[in-house]
Amino acid sequence: MSSNPTPAASDGPRTAEDVLRAQLAQTGTTPERFRDDMARVVGAHWAEMPPGALFDALARAGRVPSPPHLPAPLRILTPRQARAVHDAVRAAARRRGVRGEAADEISCDALAAAGIFLPPPGPAPDTCGARYLPHDAEEFGPELLGQWQQCTDEPGHPGHEHAAGDTEWDDGDPGAVPARPQTEA
Ligand SMILES: [Zn+2]
Repeated sequence: MSSNPTPAASDGPRTAEDVLRAQLAQTGTTPERFRDDMARVVGAHWAEMPPGALFDALARAGRVPSPPHLPAPLRILTPRQARAVHDAVRAAARRRGVRGEAADEISCDALAAAGIFLPPPGPAPDTCGARYLPHDAEEFGPELLGQWQQCTDEPGHPGHEHAAGDTEWDDGDPGAVPARPQTEA
């Protein structure tokens, strides 16, 4: 259980709340839902806990998936940064008459070559929600590097090992996002 590293965000979150928001943004959880969950799971003293400990407590309780972590200096863009990249790429593609999807693909590969990756897309509903980012350029070729994989096993399958095609991973591996627990809203 590593204590959560402070995200090396260039937008520089400073307060505990900012740090939490940055972490939440990576997992697609809203601050409102997070507050409700905190009150239910952690109790009244959550405000005095360090954000990393809070997040770990919630992750252990299955309320939020742990944010994916990667060995430095690799990093995953925040959703806001990813949107900025997407908008810039699409605008440049339009100016030059390049097909948008082709431009997306090129920018994704270019970022991945520099060790910078897009955040995980939301899980498709029909299979296990565990996802994995092939991030090691020594291990993965250009067709997999930086391409988020989702486990193709059935939802809620036992164990913490997952697979998509030839790619296999464990929930504890760097780049892994565990399946979102199937809890009532
Ligand atoms: Zn799975």
